[in-house]
Amino acid sequence: MRRVISGMKIICIGRNYAKHIEELANERPIEPVVFLKPDSAILQKKMPFFIPEWSNGIHYEVEILIKINRVGKYIETKFAHKYYDEIGLGIDFTDRELQSKLKEKGLPWEKSKAFDGSAIVGEFYAKEQFDLVNLQFQLLKNEDVVQDGNTNAMLWNIDELIAYVSQFFTLKKGDILFTGTPAGVGKVDSNDVLIGKIEDKEAFRVKIK
Ligand code: ZN
Repeated sequence: MRRVISGMKIICIGRNYAKHIEELANERPIEPVVFLKPDSAILQKKMPFFIPEWSNGIHYEVEILIKINRVGKYIETKFAHKYYDEIGLGIDFTDRELQSKLKEKGLPWEKSKAFDGSAIVGEFYAKEQFDLVNLQFQLLKNEDVVQDGNTNAMLWNIDELIAYVSQFFTLKKGDILFTGTPAGVGKVDSNDVLIGKIEDKEAFRVKIK
C-alpha cells in the first residue's frame, strides 16, 4: 500500500494593515486577501536567503505567524483561539516588480511570493506570554528598524483571520498562518542581515546572499 505523505501549508494574508495598503497604493479590501505558499517555500533554519537568479529585486515583509494545532473547518471566531497555542514571526519575501506585473494582468501571485526560500519561519512562543491584540514586533535591517508593527493596527485580528480562511481551507496541525505586514516594506541587498523581534525576543536572524 502506498503511504500518503501529507505536507503542511502556509496561508498568507495580504493587506491587513491600513498604512501598508497606502504605501503600495492598493485598494482597501472588503474581505481579507488570501494566498498560499507551499512547504518548499520555507527557508531552512540557519540558511542564508539567496536572491533568486531570475529576480530584479526582493522585498521583505515581516509578519506575525500563527501555528495551527488541530484540524478545523468553518471555525467560528469565538472558538478560533482553541486552534493555536503558539505564535511566531517570519518574513514573506516578495518580488514586488513581478508581483505588480502579475497583478496588472490579473494573474496569480505565486511566482512572486511562493518561490523557494520565500518564507522565513522564526521561533514560536507560547501565546500566553503576549497580549495578542497589542503585540509589538519589528524588523531590523543591518540594525536599523525598518518595520515597526503592532497587532492593534490589523484590519482583521488573528481569530477573525482563522475563521475567515477556514471557510476555504481545512486547517491542519502544523499549518502556519502569515497575518500580513505593516508599513515599511523595502528591498534587500546582498550582505544585509535581517533580524525579527517580537517585543524583546529575537525570533529570527537571516543573512541575504
Ligand atoms: Zn505578506
